[in-house]
Amino acid sequence: MGGRTGQSNQEKRSEERVFAPSYLWDFRCDGAACGSHCCRDWRIPVDMAAWERMARLPSKERKTIFAKLTEKEGTGWETSHNEDGACAFLDEDGLCSLQKRHSKSYLPDICESYPRVSYRFGDYVERSLAMTCPVAARLALLPDAPMQFRERTAPARRASSSTHPPMEALLLRDHLRALQLRMIAILQNREKSLRLRFLHLGRFLSTIEARYGNRLPDEASLLACAENVKPSAEIRFRAPPYTRLRYIAELLAALYEAEEDYTPGRLNLLASSLAEHEAESEELLHSLHGHILENLAVNELFLRLYPFSCAGGFLANFKLFVLRFRVAEFPLLLKAAAKNEPPDQETVLLLLGRVMEKLDHNREADRLLKHRAAEDFDGMEPDEILSFL
Ligand code: SF4
Repeated sequence: MGGRTGQSNQEKRSEERVFAPSYLWDFRCDGAACGSHCCRDWRIPVDMAAWERMARLPSKERKTIFAKLTEKEGTGWETSHNEDGACAFLDEDGLCSLQKRHSKSYLPDICESYPRVSYRFGDYVERSLAMTCPVAARLALLPDAPMQFRERTAPARRASSSTHPPMEALLLRDHLRALQLRMIAILQNREKSLRLRFLHLGRFLSTIEARYGNRLPDEASLLACAENVKPSAEIRFRAPPYTRLRYIAELLAALYEAEEDYTPGRLNLLASSLAEHEAESEELLHSLHGHILENLAVNELFLRLYPFSCAGGFLANFKLFVLRFRVAEFPLLLKAAAKNEPPDQETVLLLLGRVMEKLDHNREADRLLKHRAAEDFDGMEPDEILSFL
């Protein structure tokens, strides 16, 4: 993905056009509701612009602030942590002392923007929220109604905390929104199982890519293409359940490097017990929490700017999208199989949050998934991919 934008004219704008899921406008950071989740245990880098703002403060204040920063070997600064893992700037009331004493403009980019993820397309911004924030996750995932998207004008946020979209997405920006809305419509088609919607999405992207290469057709052609590739029959698996489930179990174990409950031995055992009841467990989970999983898929699709999230084209992006989703869903399936009933809503949010933290905040995990998506499904078309994953 692209780097951060530098300070620019956009920084001086008082308003900006934002295309976003509607839930974004209801988000309010609430440290009391989440125990200041993002201010604990995470490494928080201090960008150079924030460091310079801090360095220009009067000496006494500057010393107090710099006592709470740690210099990383040759790669800049990050906030220090207390013994309990909390950011050194976190006050007992759960609020940030830096913001309280010196205003929001002294926050590093990451603190000013999180959990917002923004891509700047010249005169407008695409923005959504990361599901690692528990308050954002409740807002985005729990509504039963399909997630809505719209554009509106809003006070401009700091330009340096948004991300440059990849060049391929920038070049196609005139048709990008039509493509995104068509992909979202496919994922929100509740007449089909989620698995079939994924297959539909894969066929759609693969066809668009084969037919139009690095251009995008107009909205009517996108719609026609989506209609033409709609799957009609359920997916026939080409590998026995245990083989498929063990693949995800091993991937999850590799991501967690045997931390927490996700050790290879335990996961393999669980995969074999899930294999006996895979269809029932999926049915149990999706019957009660299908809307949460749909919202997660839609949010991921938008937030990670698919099909431009990784290099390699639309089909490569589809593989990564499905693999990440399956990994996130797997712990929920295990829970449903273990109790022969769907996990409750809080457990679903907790388990999803835990996996999303690993997928979003760990470079090694990100690298591993990209590698596996490209290598293990090399040369496969969406039908083959979905018949395994
Ligand atoms: S951004 Fe989210 S996780 Fe961080 S303090 Fe606010 S509500 Fe909590």
